[in-house]
Amino acid sequence: MKKTLSMVLAAAMLSVTAAASAAVYTPGTYEAEAKGFGGQVQVEVTVDEEKIVGVSVVGDDETQGVGSLAIEQLPAAIVEANSAEVEAVSGATITSTAIQEAVASALAQADGTAVQAGPAAFVPGTYTATAQGHNGAVTVETTFAEDRIESIQVVSHFESEGVCEKALFTELPESIIANQSLAVDTIAGATVSSNALIAAVKDAAQQAGCDTASLMTAPEKTPPETTEYTADVIIVGAGGAGLSAAVSATDEGASVILIEKEGYVGGNTLVSGGIFNAPDEEMQKEVEMTAGVQALVEAAISEEPVSEAHEELMEKVRAQYEAHLAAGKTYLFDSVEWYTLQTWNAGDKVADLDLVYTMCANSYDTLTWLRNLGWTYYSDIRQGAGSLYQRTHSSVDHAGVGFINALTSGLEDRDAQIVYSTTATELIMENGVCVGVLAEDRDGNQITFHANKNVILATGGFARNAEMLSQYNTSGKWPDLTKITGTNMPGITGDGIRMAEAVGAALRDMDQIQLLQTTQPGTGNCVYAYVAPKEAAGYLFFNSEGKRFIGEDGRRDDISLAALAQTDALFYMLESADVITDPENTYDLLGVPMTECISAGAIIVGDTLEELCEKIGWDYATVKAEIDAYNANVDENALTDEYGRALFTTKLENGPWYAIPRTPSVHHTMGGVVINTKTQVLDTEGNVIAGLLAAGEVTGGIHGGNRIGGNALVDCITYGRIAGTQAATLER
Ligand code: ADP
Repeated sequence: MKKTLSMVLAAAMLSVTAAASAAVYTPGTYEAEAKGFGGQVQVEVTVDEEKIVGVSVVGDDETQGVGSLAIEQLPAAIVEANSAEVEAVSGATITSTAIQEAVASALAQADGTAVQAGPAAFVPGTYTATAQGHNGAVTVETTFAEDRIESIQVVSHFESEGVCEKALFTELPESIIANQSLAVDTIAGATVSSNALIAAVKDAAQQAGCDTASLMTAPEKTPPETTEYTADVIIVGAGGAGLSAAVSATDEGASVILIEKEGYVGGNTLVSGGIFNAPDEEMQKEVEMTAGVQALVEAAISEEPVSEAHEELMEKVRAQYEAHLAAGKTYLFDSVEWYTLQTWNAGDKVADLDLVYTMCANSYDTLTWLRNLGWTYYSDIRQGAGSLYQRTHSSVDHAGVGFINALTSGLEDRDAQIVYSTTATELIMENGVCVGVLAEDRDGNQITFHANKNVILATGGFARNAEMLSQYNTSGKWPDLTKITGTNMPGITGDGIRMAEAVGAALRDMDQIQLLQTTQPGTGNCVYAYVAPKEAAGYLFFNSEGKRFIGEDGRRDDISLAALAQTDALFYMLESADVITDPENTYDLLGVPMTECISAGAIIVGDTLEELCEKIGWDYATVKAEIDAYNANVDENALTDEYGRALFTTKLENGPWYAIPRTPSVHHTMGGVVINTKTQVLDTEGNVIAGLLAAGEVTGGIHGGNRIGGNALVDCITYGRIAGTQAATLER
């Protein structure tokens, strides 16, 4: 569904009889656009001689559930007020302002006050301005000569590494200067950072006395240099799966071209939690096997099996577990089979057990492979949020930056080329064999990619496609997901699933959609999340009434459902100095310093628990009683508590205390294209579609009904590697 709302009809039906007055407008429909939060917001304003009779707005890139509210609500308000000057929708100020600006400029065309801009003129000097980016304030110094923009320098920002570089430091500022225009193309997929830079330069130009209309002439488009590409392997999507596939395919001697929709690589992998599960005895030897964890294993091996394969797997785990105990080992038990069983169980036994096993069996090898490519992780094993077991390896670099840097390091020395800002639209089939991909660049030019060997789909899931979220939200678990914010990068719109479906691929588990509980209210970003621990050991969740409401170490869907049921779907992650030992050197998931999170008001701090409770409006005695009960459970090495928590390792006792407001957002789509363990795409009859492979979130069958935290990267990188090797070697 397009985020469009037309008020033309509604307004026409209003029988307002205005007194005759002089004509204000030349009747007609006028178009204009302005930069919103995620991209351009286009408006069409219809006027009669006296008033606005209709407004329609399109803004496909505005934030789902937030910006989309402004798109829904403002047109009616503008028509009713007969003015662009209406109240912004709370929480959607940027989209609201863009709509107002665009309506004002359409009205200026209608009343003849729009003026042709003359050449730009500035009072020379350097001017500083700040605009809101994706993660925080972007501050820019712009230097002007009398008649031109001389230089643009970003002096501070908190935008995500890997996403923002072209927008803040290279392509975009270079293009503004080369074209002396602010109407240049933004960086695909980094529109919020791009718009922040443009807004700051525009502000500086206004400070320098410039009529910024003179900077709004869009440069002429040049046709692409090449419209036909050929390589052994064509990979669609350069996130975790696509890049891993590129490394392994080139290792096998194949030439590779990656088609990437955005102006940068990394996809959702870049903004992921940076956590990776793998059984790792060396690291797990350092962890004592608590009674709670023992009970967890024992419950899983005492279940009634649902199939022969399940029974076989349980038997293997039982034998391994008994051998572990019989050998007198007191450290954490783990094995490929136990990891497989736990993953499959946590996915509600819906996934394809062979696919789960292949992922788990290769997890440690993939970990070693990544380490050899340069990925570094902390030396202690952890339990990543929603990962259910202490087998998580946590990236030293924040978010997924370390993974993407490892995967791209040395890519330029391989036979691999990345074609950016180009969107694959269709698979080319010849006699039932996939032989290439059709794509479009940002200017709508058609580009053809020919594969000598195979095509790999690595386009990620569909969490940013509102239409697909509506279509497939049929599990009955969730409310309307289009009204809930999302964590995903803008390009994650299910394109690969649609393309594969169009050539006969089977899809599975499409109704299995995951929410992440710990995202920022209002935006759905992971910003300010997991400020200190990336693991459940060190935090508790409290609702607005100061009560815990769920075990924090549980499944993401359970926690999200419980969180959605709290007042305003809001809760707080409570942390203390027991886990945040060095606030000056502590960062959030995306790399924003904790000190900045606090000054942005995103983390509430109290030197004492009383002070924190007062700031939030919690009853101190209620909160204290919850924490005391939890701490007592740690002391007693409890099996579980009334909220179902099983992890009792870290007491929360010392201030300062920190509370981070959180809400659930749409995060991962578990369903997708059906593949076999070689990543070959299967049709609805179970036959291989020759020439076509798929890896990563575009596929279904690995996570079933619920993806374990820390398994997304294991999936996309392991299957990406397999896809790359297969694509380089499989005859089609
Ligand atoms: P995975 O974890 O499965 O690798 P990611 O979300 O990390 O998934 O990466 C998917 C990548 O695919 C993103 O970089 C995204 O921009 C890109 N992408 C999605 N659709 C298309 C498309 N139609 N053409 C080219 N690239 C695409």
